[in-house]
Amino acid sequence: MHRTKYILDHAFYCTQCGRRGIPIARKRCREEGHLKRLYCVHCERVVNHVECVPNSKYDENTFMEEFTSGNFDEDGMRRIPLSQWKQERNKALVLSEESRLDNVEITDWFSIFGIDADEDAQAE
Ligand SMILES: [Zn+2]
Repeated sequence: MHRTKYILDHAFYCTQCGRRGIPIARKRCREEGHLKRLYCVHCERVVNHVECVPNSKYDENTFMEEFTSGNFDEDGMRRIPLSQWKQERNKALVLSEESRLDNVEITDWFSIFGIDADEDAQAE
């Protein structure tokens, strides 16, 4: 029953200009990130749009990430499948998280154990 209130929230985003297209009421969810050919008022032609569903695995934020990462070609087709793109994105997120931890690691651990970083470096 809670699903029904999201039906009208489905939004289609243009794979060419990244802007929100004409709202369409959907009776039920398609697969995540579903592509549909629609007329884009900004591009003034029929192009692929991606279906975004709020609070789902593919919402507007996911689309903006995929759009800005350049995963849609001039025909509005995905360069790599959505599932693969998500894996690549998650890998990138893990890597950036790891490098972020690397950056804070040294000074944090030194201060936790009361090690003087400068003195340690000179001893070597
Ligand atoms: Zn467009």
